[in-house]
Amino acid sequence: MTTATLFIDGQWVPASDGGIREIHNPADGEFVAAVSEATREDTEKAIAAAKAAWERGEWASVPAPERGDFLLKVAARLRERKDEFARAETLDTGKRLVESEIDMDDIAACFAYFGKIAALNAGRIVDAGNNDVVSRIEYEPVGVCGLIAPWNYPLLQAAWKIAPALAAGCTFILKPSELTPHTSILMMQVLEELGLPRGVANLVLGAGAVAGAPLSESPDVDLVSFTGGVATGKVIAGAAAKTVKKVALELGGKNPNVIFADADFDAALDNALNAAFVHSGQVCSAGARLLVEEPIAERFVDELVRRAKMIRMGGPFDENAETGPLISAAHRDKVTAYVNKAVEEGARIRCGGTWGTGELEKGFYYAPTVLDNVKRGSSALLDEAFGPVVTVETFNGEEEAVELANDTDYGLAGAVWTQDAGKSQRVARRMRAGTVWINDFHPYLPQAEWGGYGQSGVGRELGPTGLGEYQEAKHIYHNINPQVTGWFTDHGKG
Ligand code: NAD
Repeated sequence: MTTATLFIDGQWVPASDGGIREIHNPADGEFVAAVSEATREDTEKAIAAAKAAWERGEWASVPAPERGDFLLKVAARLRERKDEFARAETLDTGKRLVESEIDMDDIAACFAYFGKIAALNAGRIVDAGNNDVVSRIEYEPVGVCGLIAPWNYPLLQAAWKIAPALAAGCTFILKPSELTPHTSILMMQVLEELGLPRGVANLVLGAGAVAGAPLSESPDVDLVSFTGGVATGKVIAGAAAKTVKKVALELGGKNPNVIFADADFDAALDNALNAAFVHSGQVCSAGARLLVEEPIAERFVDELVRRAKMIRMGGPFDENAETGPLISAAHRDKVTAYVNKAVEEGARIRCGGTWGTGELEKGFYYAPTVLDNVKRGSSALLDEAFGPVVTVETFNGEEEAVELANDTDYGLAGAVWTQDAGKSQRVARRMRAGTVWINDFHPYLPQAEWGGYGQSGVGRELGPTGLGEYQEAKHIYHNINPQVTGWFTDHGKG
């Protein structure tokens, strides 16, 4: 791959100052590739290209069903190139190849979904209560969109933004995480190859504070959609406020996994492991807070610890591995500091709390970790670790379960496990989270909204609302029988 990896106004270009960044595989430190590191000026050029394309109107004027057809073609092309995309994702993130393959299926499904619904939000007739008035709502594209994505599901999180933006008729600038650029580059190749007009899709790569910041600051960007950490989300929302642009934020989570004593023990246990340790816990909806009802707590946690100790860490192409590394040395330091602080505050490490050894020392591995004896109000329960760490709390009864589950500033997702259908519905309704699973953990659907309460974010991705985020509702009111109102009297000339 060359280092002309910025895609601006339909051209592949290097950074204006020649800057590059090397990408290394977090599983073993191997060099993956060097890519361009955009300057502020590069991002400003990309914004200007997206704005010019918006003003030319070539994409917005394509009828919505045809925009939908284009997205279906993208989905088909992604399925054809799945192996290449999955490999690129795995080399950047270190995640197991099989997980990247699942991600690529999900990304194709996301494009297919927005392809199918692109034409469905065509507007509606409003009954004005007056036969002389024809009133209707039309949905127009928002305009130029800045799309900022994280490293944990690099192309999936970007796809949740690109697909609805294109379905709506917007133009955009994508800024993926500086750590995981490759699948975004491949994505732009697909859009280019399928004939998207120049300037509609632009890609800038590089550090957030440099290459990303203009997307929230520029008056020429109409909407900024961000997925990432809450601290960055606050910076972006603050910058966006200065030009009062639309803001969508998908932030972190501290998601409760509530296990009642009458749950299917084996299914709940198996899913509690998935909830906490899939992708080494680098999942915004990870079930990082385990709440277990007291009658089964001791047995459940003993089993959880026994099973967590058996999880095999390994590289992305190791077929025996069950989970991979953390994204970077800096991130592993962050997880290590989180666990050390938890211990200082009185928590007990039941398993894990260690780095990978032997062959794994080449990468950034952190062993699956269970913390119990965690005090209410302590940082371990409040802060996101974004690593393979689960805290244990116990409760008795529905009231206490709901109280503990909602004791967080976040509100992205959560789960409730019980065989009592009424109890599951009551608890699910009272949980303050954008997604609640009953007797499951982690599945999401492109046709169902995803997003957070509280500090987990603003707005929703996916589902019809996910398309609506990229649309403006316009009311057109037509008086077909205009009359003099007589509100102001004509006092005559002079
Ligand atoms: P991050 O906030 O560090 O970075 C996210 C993106 O923002 C990156 O592309 C980064 O370069 C960019 N960025 C940083 N500073 C910026 C600035 N000033 N202006 C513009 N862009 C800037 O997050 P991360 O470490 O990449 O991802 C992990 C976080 O993402 C976790 O907190 C996780 O919970 C969250 N996340 C949330 C969801 C969700 O759907 N709610 C999904 C995935 C990840």
